[in-house]
Amino acid sequence: MGYRIFITGSGIAKQAQQLLKEENCIFETGDPKDTPDDLVRKLKAFNPDGLIVRQGGISGEVQGAAGSLKVICKHGVGTDNIDIEAASRRCIPVMYTPEANHESVAEHTLALILSIIRGIPFQDRRIREGVFDKKAYDGTEIFEKTLGVIGFGRIGRRLSELVAPFRMRVLVYHPSRTVETLPPYISKVQNVEELLARADIVSLHCPLTPETEGMINQEALAQMKRNAYVINTSRGGVVNEGDLISALQEKRIGGAALDVFAAEPPAADNPLFKLDNVILTPHVGGVSDSSLVNMGMESVKNVLSVLKGESLNMASLKNREVVEK
Ligand code: NAD
Repeated sequence: MGYRIFITGSGIAKQAQQLLKEENCIFETGDPKDTPDDLVRKLKAFNPDGLIVRQGGISGEVQGAAGSLKVICKHGVGTDNIDIEAASRRCIPVMYTPEANHESVAEHTLALILSIIRGIPFQDRRIREGVFDKKAYDGTEIFEKTLGVIGFGRIGRRLSELVAPFRMRVLVYHPSRTVETLPPYISKVQNVEELLARADIVSLHCPLTPETEGMINQEALAQMKRNAYVINTSRGGVVNEGDLISALQEKRIGGAALDVFAAEPPAADNPLFKLDNVILTPHVGGVSDSSLVNMGMESVKNVLSVLKGESLNMASLKNREVVEK
């Protein structure tokens, strides 16, 4: 008999489901609205060997509800919703799909940048309301402007490539001390303050960690140019949402484009919904025709490699200590 796989949230691509079927796996999909209590109940009932994580917090308690659990794989990159230490204590490998969605997020980020600085959603709303007012329009260009990239991993690097035809200057803040030769239009800055003071657009591409949590707060926003934009496709927690809302309400920055939020979904009365200088998308940066297939296929392959006792793709393993043990 095949393995039992539980998939949290909104499921996986049909190609990945097909692979599970070919391997005679039995699988069940949760619901994006599952609370931790729902997950505990569902995992207790289904008792999976493998867990593929889309939405939902995978605490130690949730992991403990699946007595036979042998592997967890994040369908995507940000593993901040998985208690990796708890998994390591149980000797459960936590894997992820690092190569699967950076193109999608980088393209989405570029789309957000162009949309917010050209005011496209706002113009669209106005024209539908019967206002065809060319005089009120004052869009800006990104040509030869300065892009500040915080976190120079797969997404930050790809975004930097995508803006090259616009002859943007790219300033990168990245904690690594590795020396590398970069194209002349990209330069590393020593501290985040320098990037905030010089960038016309600040784009966040670091993971959510204790160090990055609330990094873009009142103090950081005060260091930005008055007409600069914040673009966040990383994690909501990297920005202090209350401080950003105040800065947007008081027009202390030019605007913001957000794909991720402090709480997802944001509450219906979130003040962001009332602001014209912000555009919002529902955490879909990493979702595209190609990335969904990539993430689904990689997740299934990662989970099966552990369950079958095959050699692991170490680049996709978050807690190496489990294997070293
Ligand atoms: P990555 O691991 O390739 O790159 C992240 C980079 O951030 C790494 O190079 C790391 O060294 C750097 N970093 C760590 N701490 C930092 C700090 N304090 N300051 C600056 N940089 C720091 O990951 P990636 O694929 O580029 O993804 C980046 C993040 O984007 C993920 O962690 C995830 O939270 C988010 N993401 C969002 C979506 C979405 O749908 N919106 C999809 C995928 C990833």
